[in-house]
Amino acid sequence: MSWMQKTNRREFLAGTLSASALGTLAACMKETQKMPSTERMPVVFVGHGTPRSAVWTNEWTASWEAVGAELPRPSAILSISAHWLTRGGALVTASREPRMNYDFYGFPDEMYKVVYPAPGNVGLAQELQSTLGGELPIRPDNEWGFDHGTWVVLKYMFPKADIPVIQLSIDYSKPASFHYELGKHLASLRTRGVMVLGSGNMVHNLSIRPGMNNDQPYDWAQEFDAAIWKSIQEGNHQAVIDFQKMGNVVAQVHPTHDHFLPLLYCLGLKTEKDEVRAFNENFQWPAVSMRSIVIS
Ligand code: ZN
Repeated sequence: MSWMQKTNRREFLAGTLSASALGTLAACMKETQKMPSTERMPVVFVGHGTPRSAVWTNEWTASWEAVGAELPRPSAILSISAHWLTRGGALVTASREPRMNYDFYGFPDEMYKVVYPAPGNVGLAQELQSTLGGELPIRPDNEWGFDHGTWVVLKYMFPKADIPVIQLSIDYSKPASFHYELGKHLASLRTRGVMVLGSGNMVHNLSIRPGMNNDQPYDWAQEFDAAIWKSIQEGNHQAVIDFQKMGNVVAQVHPTHDHFLPLLYCLGLKTEKDEVRAFNENFQWPAVSMRSIVIS
């Protein structure tokens, strides 16, 4: 049973108004107020693929560097990573110095020595609790830190690690439409300098490893990836939200849905004035699409 299921809503809300929280609230609000009013910040969905990119530079890490260099500098980054799942509510990074979360196993030692020392943003975390608190229970977190869906990408995109970063967990008990709608509630962040990063993969089946298909993507994987991209280009977000209705292929392209859900937050943030462009329109493994998008 998850922490949220064990905590009733009244206790939860009382927790957010504890003396310690109130004690830091003034400082938090000051931090938040520092965030400028800006043009709408881009929203980025990145297909992150293997954690090996932490130390293995490749065509995808090169593209993350290039995209990061092109983007306007955010005042803060809100990352929604496929790797942080909660049930019955969400958590948001509330540490001033979030820890490194090496949430992968059996990889070379050097991968566990990479550090991405970006600061957190307690004020932004507090604001998110207010903004989203009416939609789902949401609580500050000091344990998760940055998982590899976040830091492996940002290590290349913003290598100086000098922009505050927070993560929002994904409430995995909610349907796809909920995540799309929750994304809409984050819209005001874009005009205040916050870049929202969704980190997952449009096609993600790790049980099909390299060498099993001469590294060529499977037709069904490419077809799903292309169909999702077509719907995005056409502005048919409902078709993307309804991805589970795309037939038997869904169980093949997403045995679990965690890597698809961050995309829905990003699409929820698209306005009519935004355009969408894709990059990394290829596959890393036979069933891992690296297709990524910038909404701006
Ligand atoms: Zn992943």
